[in-house]
Amino acid sequence: MNLLIERFLSFFPIIRCPICGGVKNNGFLCELCAEKIESLYVQKGYCIRCGEPLTSEKLTWCGECLTNKRPWDYFSFYGYYRDILRQIITEFKYRGDFACLGILQDLLCKAYLKADSDFDPDIIIPVPIHKNRLKLRGFNQSLEISRKLSRLIGVPIERNILVRTKDTVSQVGLKKSEREKNVKNVFCVIGDIKGINIVLVDDVYTSGATASECSKVLKAAGAGMVGVLVVARTKSGDVEYNS
Ligand SMILES: [Zn+2]
Ligand SMILES: [Zn+2]
Repeated sequence: MNLLIERFLSFFPIIRCPICGGVKNNGFLCELCAEKIESLYVQKGYCIRCGEPLTSEKLTWCGECLTNKRPWDYFSFYGYYRDILRQIITEFKYRGDFACLGILQDLLCKAYLKADSDFDPDIIIPVPIHKNRLKLRGFNQSLEISRKLSRLIGVPIERNILVRTKDTVSQVGLKKSEREKNVKNVFCVIGDIKGINIVLVDDVYTSGATASECSKVLKAAGAGMVGVLVVARTKSGDVEYNS
């Protein structure tokens, strides 16, 4: 190539898809990855309380939600934690690839909009991470993912109301009961939230232990309705997730 043309083109580097490295047309991903993400959108066939896939179309709640009342009033998610959805979350969270943030923010907005609900939140609370982990990672993924939703629905993000007071061990490899124990008494509420409706945002829902503990603490402090909103939800039997 002519050296001059080559130099000229180098001013306009091709922006690559953060997942496959392919050429990005517009948006956050290449066309192929964008299609894959769309195909993972879960529209029906899940428990409206927790997202667990249901065995029959006649059901609305899963067995677990029927026997154990969830401490939240609303739940929504974009899709199951697998394939490209898992990849994007991992790239963002553990490799700090902020090129994946825009798509995650969009998916959270879609998750919020898909729930047919009259839930009217006053504030958004991203699930907090402990200050030690924040220092290490440099950002709280749930807070970053929440930003677009906040602008879209005109609801402020409150990051100092729910505080994680203890640095817990990773939930990986823990059984459900151990996960519950691991997050027990690690959150506290600062300030007055009496009657305030809250959307609790997290990147991934696994056993529900974190969502449950946060919701309980918020409700105990007088919160009105609490909704749990996540980008992805693990399916029983699928891969483990490190919170
Ligand atoms: Zn791609
Ligand atoms: Zn359920």
